[in-house]
Amino acid sequence: MRWRIRKCPNCKTYTLKEICPKCGNKTIVPHPPRFSPEDKYVEYRLLSKYPDLLSKGVKISKEGLSNSSNK
Ligand SMILES: [Zn+2]
Repeated sequence: MRWRIRKCPNCKTYTLKEICPKCGNKTIVPHPPRFSPEDKYVEYRLLSKYPDLLSKGVKISKEGLSNSSNK
């Protein structure tokens, strides 16, 4: 699910509407556009799928899996 919460820059009200219900100001999405919750949690997702990866010396990065012993 995507971030849908919006914020009124005028009265700081959080709302789901594009127009602030309190003051009628146009609301903004307070999250940076590049922010991606999936990237942040990709490591945890992988670990929950493959819990024995760490003990095998496999590094987890945003790009995916890479074997650290293969330098
Ligand atoms: Zn407002």
